[in-house]
Amino acid sequence: MARCLHIFDSGFQCISETMEPTDLCEAHQKVVAFQPDRLEDSIWRKAFLRFIALLLLLIFLIPLFYTLRDLYLGPPVKAQEVW
Ligand SMILES: [Zn+2]
Repeated sequence: MARCLHIFDSGFQCISETMEPTDLCEAHQKVVAFQPDRLEDSIWRKAFLRFIALLLLLIFLIPLFYTLRDLYLGPPVKAQEVW
């Protein structure tokens, strides 16, 4: 087991061993009480943020797609003008 990561004000590290799920000992870990409501809330927020991220990605990708299509798939603009 690893040592607790808590540093005292004196500068010394805590000598207790860590609890399994955290890097802190029993005395120094700040356990946040499990709240199902908050968990569900964060899931919805995560989904919402992912949706926004996807939307932004699409907004930036659409012009890029058209630019690339015009550059490589369309007939050359200069040649078209000459003919
Ligand atoms: Zn500790």
